[in-house]
Amino acid sequence: MRNKSPRDQIKLSADEMREMGYRIIDMLVDYTGAQAQFPATRALDPVTFDEILEEPLPEKGSPWEDVLEQFERQVLTTIDHLDHPRFFAYIPSPSNFVGAMADTLASGYNIFNSLYPLGTGAAIVERLVISWMRSLCGMPEESGGLFVSGGSVANLMGLAVARQILLGNDIGDAVVYCSDQTHFVVSRGLRILGFAPEQLREIRADADFRLPVADLERAIEQDRAAGKRPFCVAATAGTTNTGAVDPLNDLADLCEREGLWLHVDGAYGATACLIEHRRQLLAGIERAHTLTWDAHKWMFQPVECSALLVRDRHWLNATFKESAHFLTDAEAHSKEEVGEEMNFMYQGIQLTRYFRALKLWMSLKVFGLGAIRQAVERGIELAELAESLLRESGRWEIVTPAQLAIVTFRYKPAVGDDALADQVTDELSGALAANSFAFASTTKLLGKTVMRLCTNNPRTTASDLRQTVQIMGRLAADLESRLGSAPPVV
Ligand SMILES: *Cc1c(COP(=O)(O)O)cnc(C)c1O
Repeated sequence: MRNKSPRDQIKLSADEMREMGYRIIDMLVDYTGAQAQFPATRALDPVTFDEILEEPLPEKGSPWEDVLEQFERQVLTTIDHLDHPRFFAYIPSPSNFVGAMADTLASGYNIFNSLYPLGTGAAIVERLVISWMRSLCGMPEESGGLFVSGGSVANLMGLAVARQILLGNDIGDAVVYCSDQTHFVVSRGLRILGFAPEQLREIRADADFRLPVADLERAIEQDRAAGKRPFCVAATAGTTNTGAVDPLNDLADLCEREGLWLHVDGAYGATACLIEHRRQLLAGIERAHTLTWDAHKWMFQPVECSALLVRDRHWLNATFKESAHFLTDAEAHSKEEVGEEMNFMYQGIQLTRYFRALKLWMSLKVFGLGAIRQAVERGIELAELAESLLRESGRWEIVTPAQLAIVTFRYKPAVGDDALADQVTDELSGALAANSFAFASTTKLLGKTVMRLCTNNPRTTASDLRQTVQIMGRLAADLESRLGSAPPVV
C-alpha cells in the first residue's frame, strides 16, 4: 500500500479547506449584495456552451483555485439567476443566504435523513417543520408528510398515495379530474404511475381560469354512467400561468359527496396561507387529502425544497413501505412509539435522503415567521403595483389582474390589430432578454400569447418595476413599428 497523502484520501489540508471555504463565502456574499447591478438574464448562445465546457476527463487533479476560477468564468457567467430582483419569468426562486448556509451544513456533515435511529435530530427537525407547515395551512394534527426535491415529485407522490389508498392495485377505468390550467407534472405523474392518457379528464377552466365545479360534476356523472370509476380531483392552489386558485371548498364538498380524493397542487400558491387576511383566497386547502407545497418558490429557499403533506400520516407507510434484511438492525432500534413516521426512507421513494428540512427550519428560526409573512405580502403588493403601472401606461391590456403575485397582460397596438398584438407580445420576451435589464416570460391563455410578471422576490424595488414597465413599453413600441410596417407574410 502506498503512503497516504491527503489527496489520496480525497481530502484537502485544513488550511486549504479554510481558504477554499472562505473564498466561496466571499464570492457568495459579494454576489448576493450586488445582484441588482448584474443583468437579469445572461444566457449565451447555446453553441458557446459546448465550446466552453468540452474537455477531456482529467486523470490528474489541479489546484482548487483554478477549478473555482473556471467555474466563475465559464459556468457562472452562463447562468440565469432565478433569485435576481428583476427576474420575473416562470416562478422565480428568491432564495436566501441562511438557507444556502444550511444546505452547506447538510452537505458538509453529509446528514443522512432516512432512518430515525441513524439521524434522530434531523428526523425530528423534519417532522417539526412538516408539523409547522401543516398547522399553517390548517390541516388536522394526524397529518404528516416529508420533504422532497420539488413539486414534480411531491405531486407524483400525492397521486401515488391517492392511487394506493383508494384503488390498491386495480387502476382500470379509474379517472382523475383537473382543469386545463393544471401544471403538466400532474399528467406526467399519472403517466408514470401507469394511468392511460384517457384516465385524466382535463376540464376547460372558467373565465377566471378556475376549475368549474358544475362542469366537473357533470363529467363525473357521465363517467359513472359510462362505467368508469372517478376517484380523484387534482386541484391547483395558485396556477403557474395566472395564480388562479380552484374553488377548493366546493371541490372538497364535491369530493366528500362523491367519495373522491382531493389532491391540491399548492406548489406555488400554498405559501399565501401565511397571510392571515388573505387566507380566504385558499379557503378549503385544509381539506386536501394530499397537498404539494414548494418552499423553493415562495418560502425563499434554495432549490430543491418541497413538502408533500398528507391528511393521515399512516398513508405514507401504506403506500411506500417495503422491508429489507440488511436494514433490520437499524430498524430494531426504531421503536414504533418513537414515531415510525420519522423513518423517512419508508415514507417516500428515496432511501438515501438529503436533509432538506434544515434550510427551512434555519430560515424560519433566523428571520421569524413575521418577516417571511411580510416578504410574501410584499410580493403580492408588487404585482398589484405592476398591474397599476401597466394600466396607467395605456399600452397594455390586463388579461388577469394581480393575484398571488402574478399579473398577465398583452400589448395594445396604437392602431388596434389583434394579429399585431399577438406578434408583438410573442417577440417581447426575446427582446427583453436581449435588453437584459429585466426578464419576463410569456404563456398562452385561451390560445393567445400573454406576458406575465411573477413578483415574488422581496428584494424587488418599486423602481425596478417602474423601469421594467417603461422598458417593456419601449421595446414593444419598437416591435410594433418594425412588425407593423413589415410586408404581410404570404
Ligand atoms: C412549479 C410548479 C410545479 C412543479 O414544481 P417543481 O418544484 O418545479 O418540481 C408544479 N405545480 C405548480 C403549480 C408549480 O407552480
